[in-house]
Amino acid sequence: GIHTGKDCFVTISPAPENTGIIFRVDGVEIEALHSNVVNTSRATCLGKDGVRLDTVEHLLSACAGLKISNVIIDVEGPEIPILDGSAIPWVEELLKVGIEEMGSFCNVLRFEKTIVHQSNGSLMIAVPSENFSLTCVIIFDHQMLGTAAETFCEDPNDYVNMIAPARTFAMSEEIEKLKESGLALGGSLDNALVIYPDHFSSALRVENECLRHKALDLFGDLSLAGGKICAAVTAIRPGHKVNTEFAGILANNAKNYSLNDLADGLKSVKETESQGVSHARY
Ligand code: ZN
Repeated sequence: GIHTGKDCFVTISPAPENTGIIFRVDGVEIEALHSNVVNTSRATCLGKDGVRLDTVEHLLSACAGLKISNVIIDVEGPEIPILDGSAIPWVEELLKVGIEEMGSFCNVLRFEKTIVHQSNGSLMIAVPSENFSLTCVIIFDHQMLGTAAETFCEDPNDYVNMIAPARTFAMSEEIEKLKESGLALGGSLDNALVIYPDHFSSALRVENECLRHKALDLFGDLSLAGGKICAAVTAIRPGHKVNTEFAGILANNAKNYSLNDLADGLKSVKETESQGVSHARY
């Protein structure tokens, strides 16, 4: 893992309808829901019953991008491996095995009005819509990054081609600080794009790679809302903290969806009208 530098093992198994995404760590089942977020300082960390699991966002992003909604993920070790810093290794493994369409519909989160959340210089907006889309805006005071915006739809092919390859990035001066504080011990030029004052550590894999990595993180973090988000989401200066807060706000403001359902492990919500959204599982 990138933060602890320890070896971690992950086994992903198919799960029946209405399971949702569940991590199993040391015998504890941790649902991939905003209510289980325990830390967001460098990565998104889930926890329950005294068990913690770090850096879940890239694997969750791969599942969300491929529209996988039922899966059990067994993890040995304290965090999900960083691999090459992107979601592509997960996407490739999942596509290799194949995704099964399921008979019932996945949870659908619908909204009656626009939802806005502001926190620490970040702004999140969700405008009700039939389908999910994501506009990501980055604003950096850095000559290699600056300000950029791009909009993505929920098409898995676009996710695989445009978003999944985008690597984790870090500013060169940040790396030293992280190592001093005992984090990023497993980080290297193999699993992150390092941004120096006037150059990148390697050629970019995709256009706007840093912005697209922010979008990758958002796909994972917003999936903690627990269902398909029927909204056009705009995220200005996103980050794990504001992303996961917004996932909770969306879940709590969605129609046909209540906290009891969340506590029930996503069992009881069934969309009444056909959405054309099928439950897929790995
Ligand atoms: Zn990330």
